[in-house]
Amino acid sequence: MYMLIREVVWVMAGGSTDGSGLGSTTPAYSGGAGSTSTSTSSINDIINNLKNPCFYNIAQNLTTSNMKNAIADIINQFKISDQLNITFIEDSTISVPAKNVSGNTNDFTILINPSKFNSNASMEYKTITVLHEIIHAEIDLHSIGIQTNQQMDHLQILCGYIDKMSVAMTALFPNMTLNEAESLCFDGLNDLIVNNNNDPLWTDWSTIWNQALGHYGLNQDPSSLNNIGIAIQKYELGQQGSTPCN
Ligand SMILES: [Zn+2]
Repeated sequence: MYMLIREVVWVMAGGSTDGSGLGSTTPAYSGGAGSTSTSTSSINDIINNLKNPCFYNIAQNLTTSNMKNAIADIINQFKISDQLNITFIEDSTISVPAKNVSGNTNDFTILINPSKFNSNASMEYKTITVLHEIIHAEIDLHSIGIQTNQQMDHLQILCGYIDKMSVAMTALFPNMTLNEAESLCFDGLNDLIVNNNNDPLWTDWSTIWNQALGHYGLNQDPSSLNNIGIAIQKYELGQQGSTPCN
């Protein structure tokens, strides 16, 4: 827990100094070379068993060097060199759009249920969902012996991974602004502010959530153009982003 709080302070102190502006406009990831990390993680193999053509393409996109480097850069934050094998499987029985079922190895399995996405969902929205699950798998791999749960994973994503996730997204989708990508990274994290499952161990992290929103120039004001829910929904419903693919 102490480490997590320190990460929060780092994000808030290390970001842009533009206060209430549109958040940082300086990517932390420059697209390959230039990473200061000494870890050498990489994606060793992607096994793409997806039948749905859209999701098949999304998984294939992860094999492009730009995306591979971006994911390796995210994983390098763990300061451990991991060689990952990621298998994608379609599973119409899961109750959520995507799920990782990884054990304690470098072999990650990501399940996808295409029918749980809005039929017009943009490729950007589907891609961020897949990226979110890969980071869950990586966090869980390095949380062996540490009591963790989904909410704790989400707190780590909120505090430590949005910058690199969003830069990875803009590398793959050049028409997307960095701020749009940052907004999308908040998707799936809202159990930090809402106890969706009536979990007795649930903790209210809304103070940190609101700090993070402010850091990226986002808010929850329904009349604002920078409203987080509206920003995500546009991509979720395919009103913004690349042509929907099914
Ligand atoms: Zn999650």
